[in-house]
Amino acid sequence: MLWAPVGDTPSGPLVQVRSIPPLEFVVPGQHCRAGTVNLVLDLAPGAPEGPTTWLGRASFAGVRVPRVNVVVYSSTGRDGTVTPAPTPAEVAGTVALAERMHPVPYLEYEILGLRPDAGGRSRPDTLAELSLTQLFTGLFGLGTFTFGLLPAAGDGGLACGGSHGIGGVGACLAGDGTGFAHELGHMFNRAHAAGPDGAGTDPAYPRYRPGKANSIGEVGIDVATRTVFRPADTADIMGYGGRQWISPYTYTAILDAIPERPPAPADPPRVIVLAVRLHRNGTLDIGTAIPVEAPGGVPRPAGPSPLSVDVLDASGAVLSTHHFRTAPAPVPAGREPWTDLVDAVAWDESAAGLAFHAGGAPLARLAVGEAPTARLAEPRVRAGIIHTAWISRHPRQEPRVVALYSADDGATWQPVDFSSGTAGSIDLPTGSVPGGSRCRLRLVASAELASVDVISPPFPVPVTPREIAVVIPDTASAEAPVQLAGSAYSPDAGVCPPDELHWASDVDGELGTGHQLAVPLRPGEHRITATAPDGTGGHAVATVRLTVR
Ligand SMILES: [Zn+2]
Repeated sequence: MLWAPVGDTPSGPLVQVRSIPPLEFVVPGQHCRAGTVNLVLDLAPGAPEGPTTWLGRASFAGVRVPRVNVVVYSSTGRDGTVTPAPTPAEVAGTVALAERMHPVPYLEYEILGLRPDAGGRSRPDTLAELSLTQLFTGLFGLGTFTFGLLPAAGDGGLACGGSHGIGGVGACLAGDGTGFAHELGHMFNRAHAAGPDGAGTDPAYPRYRPGKANSIGEVGIDVATRTVFRPADTADIMGYGGRQWISPYTYTAILDAIPERPPAPADPPRVIVLAVRLHRNGTLDIGTAIPVEAPGGVPRPAGPSPLSVDVLDASGAVLSTHHFRTAPAPVPAGREPWTDLVDAVAWDESAAGLAFHAGGAPLARLAVGEAPTARLAEPRVRAGIIHTAWISRHPRQEPRVVALYSADDGATWQPVDFSSGTAGSIDLPTGSVPGGSRCRLRLVASAELASVDVISPPFPVPVTPREIAVVIPDTASAEAPVQLAGSAYSPDAGVCPPDELHWASDVDGELGTGHQLAVPLRPGEHRITATAPDGTGGHAVATVRLTVR
């Protein structure tokens, strides 16, 4: 088949203009070794010109699959109406554009059990909590990126926030695929492509075209929708406005920035998790200071250090000095009259206090005092909810409490609740977290730079099989390839890799594999079936009817 852009518009969908015997080959990724591969194509002797041999070369890069922790927010309006958190299918729909645009095989995301409410909260507060979530997921080896997805019908006050705090944090509204792809670019340390205002932009972004500073530079193709993007009217995803695709500059920079997954150290270090807000007038709010034992590490941006903290021993001598870093560029410095900083600082047995400094000036000094007491009721699982309650007491401060959940008897933990106070309860839907026979809840309560760590006895939680969600039109034309989109997810099995999601038609047979594909279909009534392993030994199946005219 021969495909060409439609109409006079410089960019747009491809339509089929001539039908010739198709010479399209799909080679499963597992057959493609990283490096250069020789391709030999023999055309059969029956071809009009007689037997022909074609030799080609292709090179493949071994690309790591980035892992993203997703926090889905509900949103309670002023009148008390609750907009529910985005579903797994909505999460899949939001990341779909980034999976096609960015240099990644797919995105391996995990939707965390943490279900905060975004109602009435400011964007910086939401991003600061995401940074804290990212820090806890990083400390427990659950990946380096944390993304917040807010319900589309809820509060719309979120824009760029990708380089917030320790980097690797972003947020957008569910369904905003362009917003997600842009913020994911920030997570890979991409600043904005050159724009007219120059604020927070990347001075090294190539001047591909005179008169269009943020042009993608060369023709881009969305292979899943068969759409072409021309440099004359398409901005880079890290630019703003209008048509957007990805430039070679942004594509290769992201390819180089996909992080390795750090191995967990054998000896769990003790750290103190600090979340502070440094105001422009030099004052400092210390929101969170939680000593915790955790095996993982936290990636740090290489930007400027507006704040440092000395760890002191009992005599006031400095044991170590730690610099809080902010990531360079994306968010203009000084957009808010403060900087939120979240980091984990090494914290050994002899640590007795902290002294914060901005420049040479001392800002605040804290001494280790008394830890709160804490009790955690034995968790009960009933009607699809894991329920427990806790109390925590301290003579002088309101305890700060982090609840963590483990499905593997304490080998890994994910945060499921952040709160402060003297009592609270946790109600966690079993379908929002992985299950198993030895699940545990853990409470870390802290005050005065001292903490108490309480871990529940093990309890069983049912395992959730993957469910398939598909997006397929009711009717389609045989003149153009039909777009199929699907995903399969459960908190236990995670995201189904694209090569395990199979598509078939009862008219045309096997259609291929993938999260998103465009396939030519014959006219008629089709039953399209998507199949994926459900993660518990069975198969998840979804079937829809499609009329092709
Ligand atoms: Zn941005």
